[in-house]
Formats: sequence, C-alpha cells, structure tokens
Amino acid sequence: MIQFENVSKVYPEGTRALSNINLTIKDGEFICIIGLSGAGKSTLLRTVNKMHDISSGSLFVNGTDVSQCKGKSLRELRRGIGMIFQSFNLVSRISVYKNVLSGRAGFHSFWGVLFSHYSKEEKILALKNLELMGILDKAYQRADKLSGGQQQRVALARALTQDPKIILADEPTASLDPLTSKQVMDDFLKINKTFGITIIANMHHVDLSKKYATRILGIKDGQIAFDGRPEELTDEALMKIYGRSLTDNELLEK
Ligand code: ADP
Repeated sequence: MIQFENVSKVYPEGTRALSNINLTIKDGEFICIIGLSGAGKSTLLRTVNKMHDISSGSLFVNGTDVSQCKGKSLRELRRGIGMIFQSFNLVSRISVYKNVLSGRAGFHSFWGVLFSHYSKEEKILALKNLELMGILDKAYQRADKLSGGQQQRVALARALTQDPKIILADEPTASLDPLTSKQVMDDFLKINKTFGITIIANMHHVDLSKKYATRILGIKDGQIAFDGRPEELTDEALMKIYGRSLTDNELLEK
C-alpha cells in the first residue's frame, strides 16, 4: 500500500510541483495518471521511489516512511519498486539477457555486479521473464538491435526480475506507435494480473488509460483533479483535468 498524506513538493528554485496530495493506493491496483504536461505527474511518480524528495507531508510505501530512507533502507525500498521509462533506459551495447539480469543488481555488491556473480536461480528467473514477455528468442542479441516495443518488453522483463511489488512507469508508450503501445499495455496488464504487482503509469493517451486502468488519477497544477474508475471519466471530468474538453483525436493522443 502507498499512502500520501498532505504531500507537497517544491523544487529548489521555487516551482511548486505537488500541493497537498492525499492518496491511498492499494496493492494490485492498475493506476493511470493523466494530465497536461507540467501538471506534476512525473514528480508524483518519482516521489514513490525517492528519486525526488517530498518537501512536506508524509509518504509511506508498504509501511516504510520514504522520507526516512537512506543508505541500506533506500536500497531496500528501491528493490521493491521497478521503474519503466519512455526511452526504455537499456544498456545498448550488452545483450538483452544481461540487461534483464541487471534487474538483480540491487541484491548484490558493487563487485558482485561488476563480475556478474548472479546465481543459477537468478539466471533462470531472467530467462523465464524474457519468455513471459515473448522475447526469449532475442536473449543474446544486443539490446539496441531491437524495435521500440521489444526494448520496452526487455525493460519490463528487467523490472520483473527485480521481483517488485510495485512498477512505476513514466510515459511507457510515448515513444511507440498505437499498435505497439497497445501490445505493451497488454504486457503491463499480464504482469498486474499474474503477479498482483501494483502498476502506476503516467500516460499520454486518455483512451489507453481508460482501457487498461482500474483507477485513473487526473492531475492539474500539482493537485488531484480526478480520482475514479475509467467509466467515471466523463467529458466534465476531462474538462477539470485539461481545462477544456478534448477532441476525438486528442483523446487518442493526449
Ligand atoms: P508532468 O510529468 O505532468 O509533465 P512534472 O512533474 O515533470 O510534470 O513537472 C511539474 C512541474 O515541476 C513543472 O512546472 C516542471 O517544470 C517542474 N519540474 C519538474 N522537474 C523539475 C526539476 N528537476 N527541477 C525543477 N523543476 C522541475
């Protein structure tokens, strides 16, 4: 469970990115966060694994006070949280398999990672997750030889290999064409349903969000402007989030 209590975030030069966020996310939810660029979606996501510190309020992830995490406890927090990026963030010059295995890095020392001291179980887990994502046949190819959709599946297999309770995804489909975007969202859904992993994804596409999420959060000016089920996301609600109603094309693109 993730609990935000009166969380605000002000960046050092004064931008107030989040204002008094109160939010509880239960285990196993599939949440899509929508809103205009600059609304605070990415900041909200990155407070959960402490990529960004909160300025005030409190934030608990599975009972752990995120503000108090540092050193060993921060490593422990981050081991339980996978992260997916728009640009995939793979190491391009190494194999797909090694990228996926690096999901275990947080469980080893610096030297262990450098000399690839992964156990047999960890290696099997990496291969199983490649199979689950349908790209086992690409295991020994260089990561940068794959298509965008395939690279995002590698990133998902890497996150899964970490054995996380939560996956944070920052615009995971923004670099992908509509069909590939849908396929990658199917993979998120598979992960959510198979392992009960909580998914929190910042999304460009309102339509995709409505199709996959169990709950949608609309963020406007650092505040929650909408929190409800996909079918509750009416034109009126979109108006609150985006400041005006969206055209059919924008619903697909935003
Ligand atoms: P979104 O993900 O909805 O586009 P962000 O969370 O990236 O929104 O940004 C929210 C606000 O915080 C914006 O005004 C943005 O310019 C500002 N911001 C984001 N990241 C930083 C940063 N690292 N330093 C300073 N300001 C930032």
